[in-house]
Amino acid sequence: MFSDLKIGIIGGGQLGAMLIRYAIDYGLDVSVLDNDPKAPCSRYSRSFHVGDPMSFDDVVNFGKDLDVVTIEKEAVDVAALKALRDKGVKVYPSPETLEIIQDKYLQKSHLKKHNIPVAMGWLVMDKEQLSLHTEKLPGILKKCTQGYDGKGVLMLQTAEDIASAFDGPYVLEELVDIHQEISVIVSRNESGVIECYDPVHMVFDKERMLLDFQICPADLDQDTAMKVCAIAKRVAEAVELTGIMAVEMFIARNGKIYVNELAPRPHNSGHHTIEAAKTSQFEQQIRLILELPMGSAQTTFPSVMLNILEPAAQKKKAVMDALKTILCTNDIHLHWYGKTGGKEGRKMGHITITDTDRKEAIAKSIMIKHILKEGHA
Ligand code: ADP
Repeated sequence: MFSDLKIGIIGGGQLGAMLIRYAIDYGLDVSVLDNDPKAPCSRYSRSFHVGDPMSFDDVVNFGKDLDVVTIEKEAVDVAALKALRDKGVKVYPSPETLEIIQDKYLQKSHLKKHNIPVAMGWLVMDKEQLSLHTEKLPGILKKCTQGYDGKGVLMLQTAEDIASAFDGPYVLEELVDIHQEISVIVSRNESGVIECYDPVHMVFDKERMLLDFQICPADLDQDTAMKVCAIAKRVAEAVELTGIMAVEMFIARNGKIYVNELAPRPHNSGHHTIEAAKTSQFEQQIRLILELPMGSAQTTFPSVMLNILEPAAQKKKAVMDALKTILCTNDIHLHWYGKTGGKEGRKMGHITITDTDRKEAIAKSIMIKHILKEGHA
């Protein structure tokens, strides 16, 4: 039915590989663009193109003969996506949505304009200007563009910390007294129909600024759960989303909700939807870009998702042995990304633990974290 359609994914990492997994179910012909010839998707697509997603020419050359183009990362040249759309290629999310999201200051201003709650933030061009804002400290400094996984985010306690700041432009953000960090995956089709997945509680490794584990559903009272879903839907409307988007939010100790960050693509906070929702975020994205009816976002099982990080070379065997032990338990789902030449601490895979009982899923995940830690120790 869809085998004549040529689909392109920009970005060839693990998210792209998981999209391909669902593209297979729909019989799609998938091409991928990434600048790393060894990116995970290179193994799974016979049409893998080495090129820079931030290069106008590379993106246009990649997409010009395709029917539909989507992304698995935000750092993609927007002008090229607009040029492809002008040639009649369908582009999801729209280049305009992506443009708003690529710049953290623009993103914040856009959300504010739509009355969506965000932490206060000031645009600061460089370190020199930053030293004129010391009365706003402590605060969080964020690079306007190209930050990810905590890279490009710095806590500034006092004026002395400014010396260690990266180059601007930045958003200097008020410090939120965070009680819980959550993410809501939302999907919206071209006619404006929206589905919201259950909120996920994300727990970060503060040292590495990396997601450590996440629990779905998040432990929220009914009122807060409804509020965060309503906000996620308003955000999807405000950025005129078509496709899937992660809406990351903070719930402050005083109960206030802030939207922190948007990712208009499948996201690691939605990995659990593969085993623990009626329609995975990846299938949902495939359905949306094919203009098919959306699937149900209903949770089927409580779940916990753990990242597996690349261990030091001398610990690899111990971690592999630990994984074998872990897989002896039921309802443990391993996803190995097939990355080569991984640096210590890089995300190499994840494990999703499901159970009919949320507490049991958490207990199993604590045991697994412990076994994995022994491998890393
Ligand atoms: P990235 O794009 O790198 O993921 P984030 O904006 O998500 O950057 O910030 C990384 C982490 O820094 C967040 O998960 C949160 O723990 C912390 N953080 C970010 N903004 C604030 C803030 N305004 N107040 C307190 N902590 C914050």
